[in-house]
Amino acid sequence: MHIKKNSAVHDRRSVLKALGIGTASGFLGLLGGYSSARAAGNTIQHHTGGSLPSIKIRSVKAIATAPHGANLVIVKVETTEPGLYGLGCATFTQRAEVVVTAINNYMPDFCVGRDVDNIEDMWQSFFVSSYWRNGPVLNNALSGLDQALWDIKGKRANMPLYQLLGGKSRFAVDCYAHADGKSPEEVAVNVQKYMDQGFQHVRIQQGGYGSLYLAQKPDFKDAGFGRATDDFMDENAYLLAVPKMFKEVRKQCGENVELLHDTHERVQPINMINMCRRLEEYNPYFIEDPVSPENMDWFKQLRMSTTVPLAMGELFNNPNEFVGAITSHSFDYIRCHLSQVGGITPSMKIARLGEFFNVKSAWHGPGDVSPVGHAAQCHVDLAIWNFGVQESIEFSDKLREVFPGTPELKKGYFYVNEAPGHGVDIDEKMAAKYPINNHAGRWTIRRRDGTIIRP
Ligand code: MG
Repeated sequence: MHIKKNSAVHDRRSVLKALGIGTASGFLGLLGGYSSARAAGNTIQHHTGGSLPSIKIRSVKAIATAPHGANLVIVKVETTEPGLYGLGCATFTQRAEVVVTAINNYMPDFCVGRDVDNIEDMWQSFFVSSYWRNGPVLNNALSGLDQALWDIKGKRANMPLYQLLGGKSRFAVDCYAHADGKSPEEVAVNVQKYMDQGFQHVRIQQGGYGSLYLAQKPDFKDAGFGRATDDFMDENAYLLAVPKMFKEVRKQCGENVELLHDTHERVQPINMINMCRRLEEYNPYFIEDPVSPENMDWFKQLRMSTTVPLAMGELFNNPNEFVGAITSHSFDYIRCHLSQVGGITPSMKIARLGEFFNVKSAWHGPGDVSPVGHAAQCHVDLAIWNFGVQESIEFSDKLREVFPGTPELKKGYFYVNEAPGHGVDIDEKMAAKYPINNHAGRWTIRRRDGTIIRP
């Protein structure tokens, strides 16, 4: 018995020793590019010790560009390792220059000299580094830093980011497209176009923000109230039009397509409940942003009143805002803006929480997310189990030129490349050709009498 015990201990030690050597060798074998040169120059003890050589942050800066009109902000983190840098999306289109200031004026002092490896520690410390927190701007800056550090970690490991997040749960990222139109018939024609391209999910809107096609010229314009550029919305016309649009699209396009719709939080909660009930017969995939964040208490009644699936959360700032909403099953799909909520680190936590409550992801992904941000989202989409659907855009040639490695959209699926990190780079000279603008944006929408409507 005594002899057997000793031998077992000896065997375990042999196995562990063998595993230790094997693991180090295997890991070194994965290194490529800049990292293989580093590995060759460093002693193997670094790796058998279980940690990578220390690399520090050398510089942090913002790169702002608007190749397709929307202001995009990127964080670039350079390191003490030659050639090793990371990129993250910090885009807040409507207030881009403020984010640039937050990055360029406050991040270097916070970041330079810190270890690139400790992403969680960096996230937690930056989150509270200004004492007051949870707002847009600083959260955007933090999102960019976080994504850039994950990019660096992937490059150090010589692995695409999804591998670091647990590997693939699916072969590609199922996306939804946006079908618009002045009439229900025009919307249906556009839905069919996307179905022909292979999309299984299409968001349908009869007019964009404010649904201008549905509103008469409002009285506040004649009265000279507000600004000439202010938009307007007729809530009643909108509430009547949406079920008609669903009816027409179902009639023309059939049942074999998932239909989504975004209310943009613009209508009264009780009216939203009534509209959702009318939409039940058209089997929507989800109705997005049914109420404004200030009206979250209405979700309980909304849930009790209708079985229409709901999506919410792109206006949330603090990851904690998702906790009560998910644990109370308030909605079915999480609409995080990964470049706003704090990056990959909090998004993975929110997604994992959702897994236990059968709440799925549907990350915010229109044109005001950069290709870097889209790639970061796609890597999370690939890794998590409770993925729902991903909002997509067709990236323009200009965007692809500025951002080499941008995800590819094929037959309704996003594909990331297999480069280490998130796989998207930036051509800074090209980016500089498309300066951002500082207009305040047309996000003012009024009722007929001029009252501001909250999104
Ligand atoms: Mg929305």
